[in-house]
Amino acid sequence: MRKIQMVDLQGQFEGIKEQVNASFDSVLESAAFINGPEVKEFQKELENYLGAKHVIPCANGTDALQICMMGLGLKPGDEVITADFTFAATVEVIALLGLTPVLVDVDEETFNIDIAALEKAITPKTKAIVPVHLFGQCANMERILDVAERNNLFIIEDNAQAIGANYTFKNGQKKKAGNIGHVAATSFFPSKNLGCYGDGGAIFTNDDELAHVIRGMVNHGMYERYHHDVVGVNSRLDSLQAAVLRAKLPKLDEYNAKRRSSAKKYNERLAGQENIILPKTNNGCEGICNSCDCHVFHQYTLRITNGKRDALVKHLNENNVPCGVYYPIPLHRQKAYKDERYDEADFPITNQLVQEVISLPMHTELEDEQIDFITELVLNFLK
Ligand SMILES: *Cc1c(COP(=O)(O)O)cnc(C)c1O
Repeated sequence: MRKIQMVDLQGQFEGIKEQVNASFDSVLESAAFINGPEVKEFQKELENYLGAKHVIPCANGTDALQICMMGLGLKPGDEVITADFTFAATVEVIALLGLTPVLVDVDEETFNIDIAALEKAITPKTKAIVPVHLFGQCANMERILDVAERNNLFIIEDNAQAIGANYTFKNGQKKKAGNIGHVAATSFFPSKNLGCYGDGGAIFTNDDELAHVIRGMVNHGMYERYHHDVVGVNSRLDSLQAAVLRAKLPKLDEYNAKRRSSAKKYNERLAGQENIILPKTNNGCEGICNSCDCHVFHQYTLRITNGKRDALVKHLNENNVPCGVYYPIPLHRQKAYKDERYDEADFPITNQLVQEVISLPMHTELEDEQIDFITELVLNFLK
């Protein structure tokens, strides 16, 4: 059995090695390191894949989120609502821009923003909602679109964890994650579902005007060389990273299907245990299956309900099985984002999830034998 890793990037590299090495050689020979042809080609290929009008590559997912908010013209004092249970980058950029982050509780089955809590948090100052498609599954976008429309709010999708996921509306229409709200941000951090070999990110939108504004913003606010019309940033995807992404994008659906099939195996092996809550899918899908494409399992996350989550983490680590706790502290309790407006009673689900969640190894190279080994350890421990 191969050594078990949380994410096996070396194994995945074997399948694309020749293409990546050849592309690297050609980038090195052309010396077009920034905004070279590889970046342009990747941009077009991703627009095609998503069915989105505009993809604007940038340096990382955090920048992508920040630039979305700058592009929409959000101003200090504007309130932006997002989920309490997510990676800090989401709330970090809201605070960095002088906007007011408003954290709300999540839904216990999907770990995504709770719609009732979202509605309750809206004030006359609210300007935008940032749904995070956590662990690879879309937030309840049908309801969020409705709330946004009724309250005249922008939707900025944090799609760092769900690239390639589909969202199914009640009428059967499907849209790709990140192509549903006004604008979306994604990350190509190496461990993400579509990862490069360094930092990378992108913004997607179908709004021509917003796309134009953002294209200048990522490059020092320049729309014409050395004419700086707005305050921008320096956030670009480099050609070497674009070359890696071009090799991986045609395999993204296959990679995500592999993750789904591993999740299905985990669920089968761990079913029927009284102290385990298995991950569920919500958006019109019947559950975890191989043909269903609404969850791309960036993480495979269980809830351990008998209070022994931390002991299980230790047990797995002692047996050389890596695992993760995403996330151990709710954002509303982080030093940087504490605010007296928050009331603990408003965060019952996040407060519970941080004590119960554990993410097991999940990647495109996971073998049945490894899943058997991991699940045996979990079952024996909880017996
Ligand atoms: C990874 C991630 C980001 C940030 O992406 P970087 O490329 O690391 O800056 C933002 N939001 C979420 C939910 C993420 O998982």
